[in-house]
Amino acid sequence: MSFTVVDHPLIRHKLGFLRRNDTSTSKFRDLAREVTSLLTYEAFRDMELEPYTVKGWAGPVKVEKLSGKKVAVVPILRAGIGMLQGVLDIIPSARVNVVGLYRNEETAEPVYYYHKLSSDVESRLAVIIDPMLATGNSMVAAVDLLKKAGCRDIRAICMVAAPEGVKCVEDAHPDVRVFAAALDDKLNEVKYILPGLGDAGDRLFGTK
Ligand code: URA
Repeated sequence: MSFTVVDHPLIRHKLGFLRRNDTSTSKFRDLAREVTSLLTYEAFRDMELEPYTVKGWAGPVKVEKLSGKKVAVVPILRAGIGMLQGVLDIIPSARVNVVGLYRNEETAEPVYYYHKLSSDVESRLAVIIDPMLATGNSMVAAVDLLKKAGCRDIRAICMVAAPEGVKCVEDAHPDVRVFAAALDDKLNEVKYILPGLGDAGDRLFGTK
């Protein structure tokens, strides 16, 4: 697996506000969307292009358009929804596929409850979105599910990752490329990321 921290001043600035305890729900949501767009920009840097010619104001002009695989964006419910618009702002034609996993608060293990994938998902480049790569177990479960559906080209975008989560995904799925805004220190005793930004779902949806 390759793991990339997208180290851009705009991302670092916005991440500072995401980490602040006094950032409002609506501001947190806006920031999550903006940071995701910036991460998406980097995660798709290697997209294929093909040349074509258009009529320009001064005659024919050679331009380029995206070619190659179409994209399926896969938010892990529920917190991944907070990153969805950030991907769609940049790749509006992406299909949205969802995977429902919740965290058993006693074991911190993911519990599967739902998925809905497009019929051609196996031919698409799948990008899983989940704000926090904590233990990595949810990400591994989502990749397992997509691979079972035939996906071969899978990447993941997170806002904050823990070393434990990076290792977990790396061990289970070395072919998956993960992009994040930050690699934090560690997990606490209840598997939350430190320093992290708290419960991303609660902060996005105002449910605390
Ligand atoms: N999920 C979160 O929302 N935050 C964490 O720190 C870990 C898992």
